[in-house]
Amino acid sequence: MKVLVVNCGSSSVKYQLLNMEDESVMARGLVERIGIEGSRLKHQATGKDEVVIEKAMPDHKAALKVITDVLIDEKDGVIKDTSEISAVGHRVVHGGEKFSGSVKITEEVMDTLRECADLAPLHNPPNIMGIEACRQLMPGTSMAGTFDTAFHHTLPDYAYIYPIPYEYYEKYGVRKYGFHGTSHKYVSERAAQILGKPLKDLKIITCHLGNGASMAAVDGGESVETSMGFTPLEGLAMGTRCGSIDPAIAAFLMEKENMTIDEVNNVLNKRSGVMGISGVSSDFRDLEQAAEKGNKRAALAIDVFAYKVKKYIGSYSAVMNGVDVIVFTAGLGENSISMREKICSGLGYLGLELDPEANNVRGKEAVISKPGCKVKAVVIPTNEELMIARDTVRIIG
Ligand code: AMP
Repeated sequence: MKVLVVNCGSSSVKYQLLNMEDESVMARGLVERIGIEGSRLKHQATGKDEVVIEKAMPDHKAALKVITDVLIDEKDGVIKDTSEISAVGHRVVHGGEKFSGSVKITEEVMDTLRECADLAPLHNPPNIMGIEACRQLMPGTSMAGTFDTAFHHTLPDYAYIYPIPYEYYEKYGVRKYGFHGTSHKYVSERAAQILGKPLKDLKIITCHLGNGASMAAVDGGESVETSMGFTPLEGLAMGTRCGSIDPAIAAFLMEKENMTIDEVNNVLNKRSGVMGISGVSSDFRDLEQAAEKGNKRAALAIDVFAYKVKKYIGSYSAVMNGVDVIVFTAGLGENSISMREKICSGLGYLGLELDPEANNVRGKEAVISKPGCKVKAVVIPTNEELMIARDTVRIIG
């Protein structure tokens, strides 16, 4: 069974075609700059050279047509006809309260997704466009949706209810939802496999540290707390997002700087985080270089980021009455040796000490705590596409 996994952003589509007989990746790629000048597709079939196709792609349908064309291309493709694709699995950011797991896409599901669009105005509309485009291009093919929010469906009410008037929860669904769920689920399951322990016996803190960053407390395989909230703005400091700050700051800035709601939203989502503190970059590689050269604000941004992660580790240990495993994943978590070192320093009281040699690893699965430590630290490259493909097989089967 071959499954196409599709992840649509506002101006991008990421995809992978997987052969689910052995879970191998047959091809992967990325379309960028949809709807703007310079749109292009980077496509890589496993074992072949990468190809770049530069072509105007005014919308997601045009992008997905270019993708399906290259997949069946005689030279660069991996299949003869799109009918070989048994199912398409779509990443959907917000499933609201309705979806506690992946679902088969039906008309009813599409209606519910449109209703949820209000909750994720930046993310859900492109996800919906991607599904609609695939349904037009591959009308007979079954499709499934996997939600970023679904894994956090197990949060207890006292964790997801905000202390604001309850009527806003009832009227508008204002509550914590959490995101990156597919990643937190994948790495927590993988951590149990790597350590050879049943998932149900483990208290795991998962740190998905990328440009967007979030953490989850996973107790016995269930998410019981997570750092992102009603939107992906809450929680850790991120590349350009502020994370949790005093909510009064928004109104204060609006008044002082004469800003509109859109402008203050833009500041908190696009001009804050480590970019806002450093004034250098949202990319930690640039920050690490600048800090090494003596840039104090870059060093401060790194310190702020690590401090927040450490604070969440402490609070999630309290939430779960202990912790057995801390997992690092996503761009920064998988690759930054110095960031993992900074976060884990001073966690001896918990029973965790990093092994500097084992921690000298990038982008590979590894146990990085010292042998015999009570709390294990592990690096696990995330694989959201595989998770989506597995769910798609389970649902469409
Ligand atoms: P992601 O959103 O998961 O793709 O992660 C992207 C972020 O990972 C980038 O913005 C970088 O800050 C960080 N990153 C990736 N590779 C490295 C590296 N080798 N060292 C430090 N940070 C890295």
